[in-house]
Parts: sequence; C-alpha cells; structure tokens
Amino acid sequence: MDCGKTRNTKGCKCTYEPCERKGLCCECLRYHLSMKQLPGCCFPPEAEKTYDRSFRKFIEIHGK
Ligand code: SF4
Repeated sequence: MDCGKTRNTKGCKCTYEPCERKGLCCECLRYHLSMKQLPGCCFPPEAEKTYDRSFRKFIEIHGK
C-alpha cells in the first residue's frame, strides 16, 4: 500500500513549511509524541500557528 504522502500533504493543516515530515503522518506523530507533543493538525488554527504543540496546550484547549 502506498504511503499517501501527496494526499496527506494536500490536507495538512500545519503551517510550519520547512518541515520534512509534512505528509508523513506516522513520522510526524512519532516525532511529536517523543517530545510529549501532538501534531499541528490536533490544534485549531489560532493555536496551531503558535507552534505550541504540547499536551498541556491541547488539554488547555480541549479539556474545557
Ligand atoms: S506537525 Fe510537526 S512534524 Fe508534523 S508537519 Fe507540522 S511541524 Fe512537521
């Protein structure tokens, strides 16, 4: 089965453009989880563009 990188990249909501993991969702998730973070697509646009991808920020937004 193909990775789907092209399709994933088209639908990616992350605004950090130089990232080499764009469209490689498994690598993106692995990378952020290793730092106790979540990928940019887990955050609404206003929070995503701050690049604070921490669990703490996710709970602050979604834990209400
Ligand atoms: S969320 Fe992180 S790893 Fe994923 S594409 Fe954006 S900057 Fe890259």
